[in-house]
Amino acid sequence: MSEPVLILATHNPGKIRELRRLLKPRPLRVMELDEVGFLAALDEPGPGYTESALAKAMEVCTATGLPALADDSGIEVDALRGWPGPMSARWMGPVATDEDRLRGLLAEVERRSPDDRRVRYVCVAVLARPDSEPVTARGECLGTLVEPRGMNGFGYDPAFLSLDLGVTFAEADDEAKARVSHRARAIARLGEAGAFEPLLLV
Ligand code: IMP
Repeated sequence: MSEPVLILATHNPGKIRELRRLLKPRPLRVMELDEVGFLAALDEPGPGYTESALAKAMEVCTATGLPALADDSGIEVDALRGWPGPMSARWMGPVATDEDRLRGLLAEVERRSPDDRRVRYVCVAVLARPDSEPVTARGECLGTLVEPRGMNGFGYDPAFLSLDLGVTFAEADDEAKARVSHRARAIARLGEAGAFEPLLLV
């Protein structure tokens, strides 16, 4: 029997790499958007993680007729009342790089809350299927914003000192981040909610 297909509804290479690792134990054939000819940018209507994750998963599921998994995520600074949150990828505009956003966030925190550097990563994962209601799950992990160090991961990882690991996510290896990350926790919760089981019957 061939494995059921699951499409990753993201163009972000960092997320793709992590999601592939997290889904590896499951008997699924994980495919990427370019493999199924879906090259368009995915709309993220917001305002929250859940709305954007739902929109991305539904868009890909509807276009391909296949189950699709989307992740919408962000970093939340406690002292900035959760900002940039769902805007984490976009708050500096469309041409800024990961490095620009990382430096910009550090400068903002230094200016507005130098003594309170508590942050959290949040991820909402949605699995949408052609034959049933989408399933949604959320994961979080806590950290402190520090001067960047390490070469792994993506986005804000060099400045995210993980409370679980005691090193930044860019210093941690892939296996360690996959044990404690917001994304790992969201995918584990999707599994606990039974989101993947019906796929195996398709
Ligand atoms: P979106 O889910 O496409 O809106 O983008 C989420 C953004 O949040 C990413 O582009 C990163 O800037 C940030 N982010 C989310 N998860 C992570 C992570 O695991 N490491 C580093 N940055 C992350």
